[in-house]
Amino acid sequence: MKRSRRVVGNWKMHGSRASIAALLDALVKENPAGCAVCAPFPYLAQVAERLRGSRIAWGAQNVSEHGQGAYTGEVSASMLGEFGCRYVIVGHSERRQLYGESDAQAAAKFAAVKAAGMTPILCVGETLDERDAGKTEQVVERQLAAVDFRDGVLAYEPVWAIGTGRNATPEQAQAVHAFLRQKVPAETTVLYGGSVKPQNAAAIFAMPDVDGGLIGGASLVAKDFLDIVKAATT
Ligand code: PEP
Repeated sequence: MKRSRRVVGNWKMHGSRASIAALLDALVKENPAGCAVCAPFPYLAQVAERLRGSRIAWGAQNVSEHGQGAYTGEVSASMLGEFGCRYVIVGHSERRQLYGESDAQAAAKFAAVKAAGMTPILCVGETLDERDAGKTEQVVERQLAAVDFRDGVLAYEPVWAIGTGRNATPEQAQAVHAFLRQKVPAETTVLYGGSVKPQNAAAIFAMPDVDGGLIGGASLVAKDFLDIVKAATT
């Protein structure tokens, strides 16, 4: 896959049929290129239907590392692939921290997504303690090294910046992106995530190794998300 400017929304566990319908209507009206939204599982069919024929892609926020079997509550990559899913977020820090997902699980999920013909978005990032201890590069290198990383999107998401309103400065993001970029194929799209808003997006996306963003909170507000997409793609 070619390196390109891109913005992906991560709606997390937010929304209802009605709020998602309104959000999708607003996004489709603008129909920007270079963006995607990752919705909760029950709404994926609604999202796929509304986005059909538009330039906006869609994805899931998680997937099982297993192909099929007795895994109650899990969803396999082939199930997502059947519905035209393009992206799957893998190794998000909320999965790692709240659900104890390991580097090995993230690696297995990454491989499962690719095997089903979709694009994994692998998230890596350090906690504040790890940053303060000077371990940022060590942590993201370990998270990345666990994965056979090819044909994916990489997202640098410092844990201390997610949902906190405290984004990495453009320089902090650039430093880690430059480090990560040396370790992945040259064509890899590398996104920054962590409190990206319309007000800070352009400065962060102007950094040479930042190709766009993975957007949580601001992706739930159509105008904010569209402004962020514009900041990345124009
Ligand atoms: C995320 O959850 O991937 C994220 C970047 O969240 P937020 O934009 O809300 O910090």
